[in-house]
Amino acid sequence: MTISVALFTQDLRLHDNPVLHAARATADQVVPLFVVDPAVEAAGFAAANRRAFLADCLADLDASLRRIGSRLVVRHGDAVEQTARIAQETGATSVHLAAGVSAFAQRREARLRELLGDRLHVHDAVLTVVPAGQVTPVGKDHYAVFTPYHRAWQRVPRRAVLPAPRALHTPQTAHGEELPTAQGVSPALPLGGETAGRARWRRWDLAAYADLHDALAADGTSRLSPYLHFGCLSAGELAARAAKRGGEGAEAFVRQLAWRDFHHQVLAARPDAAHRDYRTRHDRWHHDEREAEAWRQGRTGYPIIDAGMRQLAHEGWMHNRARLLTACFLAKSLHLDWRIGARHFLALLVDGDLANNQLNWQWVAGTGTDTRPNRVLNPLIQADRYDPDGAYVRRWVPELAQVPGRAVHRPWLLADRYDYPAPIIAPGALTDRLRRARGLD
Ligand code: FAD
Repeated sequence: MTISVALFTQDLRLHDNPVLHAARATADQVVPLFVVDPAVEAAGFAAANRRAFLADCLADLDASLRRIGSRLVVRHGDAVEQTARIAQETGATSVHLAAGVSAFAQRREARLRELLGDRLHVHDAVLTVVPAGQVTPVGKDHYAVFTPYHRAWQRVPRRAVLPAPRALHTPQTAHGEELPTAQGVSPALPLGGETAGRARWRRWDLAAYADLHDALAADGTSRLSPYLHFGCLSAGELAARAAKRGGEGAEAFVRQLAWRDFHHQVLAARPDAAHRDYRTRHDRWHHDEREAEAWRQGRTGYPIIDAGMRQLAHEGWMHNRARLLTACFLAKSLHLDWRIGARHFLALLVDGDLANNQLNWQWVAGTGTDTRPNRVLNPLIQADRYDPDGAYVRRWVPELAQVPGRAVHRPWLLADRYDYPAPIIAPGALTDRLRRARGLD
């Protein structure tokens, strides 16, 4: 009788899971293990919204495993020690794990390797479509520009999508602890787990994505990001399914998955980019806690910015266009350090992800991979373009719910003041600051 351990990390699914697949293919019995590691919390990754979503994911994974004759074994403690311990207790001869990209994941893998030697099997293309580091420009360890990365990414042969196991046997000797429970801080969090993620994928209108993905009020994006972050859905499977359906929507969606892979391969090569400027421009950031707090609270007096920040607080999620605008407002209009904004996003986002969050923040702040680091997004022009009749703002800024049409984007021009803050920077001064950020003055 041979036993293996499938150590789940950010791959909380049965479908298309190379870790689980290999653990099952190479042993008679499998211990499906998840370790609730306090180091994740200590590192600041375990925000309440994500803990709540994770608890749903684990409950769903356990239920799915039970349907095929197994169960999820949950342990609390240091992930490396707990994994080695359970391998010893059950007599497992192999441990399977997904390759991760963060410094934390890389350290965990190195420590497991030290303890387990060649009993550890690390699998690529579990968290991303194309493994980080698989395509590189000549003489470099990662791509720093998206467009050539995307071209190379499209040419990489893909592994086959793997079916979910129909049956799985787990040794009696694998003792687990209670599944964690947690409460989020945002009242409208999505339900976590593979079942909910697959249902969302089936319901969502992929064909309309090309036309609707930037329309703030239409809310036409997939909202699959938390399911991808926790690996309830496989990015590789989604890319394959979208490609099979074809069309402009599918093409645009797969391109976003390539952006996700792009940021992952940057972080894998430069784990310090989670905190340090990827390409420093020696910014001298302005310090103003009052401005930072107005931004966090969604009380800047710029309705399109405040709408985004309030959506974040309420749902633990924000539309991509609103993320771009709110981030640009913090870094380029208020000229506050991007890390202040990234920290707040990570504290609330249910999809909060070190690679995607930090590197998108850096892209917007001009310290990252954008080839036009002086790019600015004028919130008023963007509001007119992406929320042309103001419906997104009225949804999230109830003080202005009675203001019709696009007038809602410039409340300072209205006769009625409403109970809404005055702009934190006067609109004229905002234009000057944006000109300066673009290097025009
Ligand atoms: P869709 O438009 O349906 O896209 C499909 C998937 O592609 C997403 O679920 C996501 O996994 C991926 N994706 C889409 N856009 C990007 C992008 N620009 N970069 C990387 N991957 C992308 N995404 C996160 O998953 N976690 C984060 O912490 C995060 N922080 C961000 C911070 C800022 C400042 C910005 C500008 C963007 C951030 N993004 C982050 C990227 C993007 O905003 C979200 O992935 C997207 O809004 C999620 O919604 P969706 O699932 O409906 O996306």
